[in-house]
Amino acid sequence: MTVNKFKFLGEWPAESRAAVEPSLAGLEWLVPGWCETVWIAWASVPRDNLEAEASATTSIEYPYRWAKIVVRPGFLDESVERRRSALIHELLHVFIGPLAEYAEQMADRLMKDDAPKFHETVREELRVRHESAVQDLAYAILGRERSAVAIDPAARRHACHPWSEAVRP
Ligand SMILES: [Zn+2]
Repeated sequence: MTVNKFKFLGEWPAESRAAVEPSLAGLEWLVPGWCETVWIAWASVPRDNLEAEASATTSIEYPYRWAKIVVRPGFLDESVERRRSALIHELLHVFIGPLAEYAEQMADRLMKDDAPKFHETVREELRVRHESAVQDLAYAILGRERSAVAIDPAARRHACHPWSEAVRP
């Protein structure tokens, strides 16, 4: 029996939900064992708002066994292919998140006060490697879903900051 771990949270415009639901279809297998629920929330920030730049972002609450993906209006401007790619990317953050978060917290604890220059460099390097690992896996999965995947340089614009907005549902 497959347990549905995706749960829609809060108010959703019908148009937005109709765009997100098919993009998530069949991706349950990507939810790691530790995560009981992936909340899917809609944030209707204005499209010219800087925070709206990423079409979706993810936060995790590892000790409480849930994650949250916040989808923004920019998602609706994406092609069907890019929507799928963006949600696979976000789900992979749930996989890699506990490890990445640990490394980030260690850098904070060990360097933030005593070695701020090292801290800044290490945090930036961790961010880049975290995003790169997630995107490499996303491409590998998309490659299996479709025989030919266009690796779009614009995908680099999908810059998300998954740990900056942990808000409990
Ligand atoms: Zn990301």
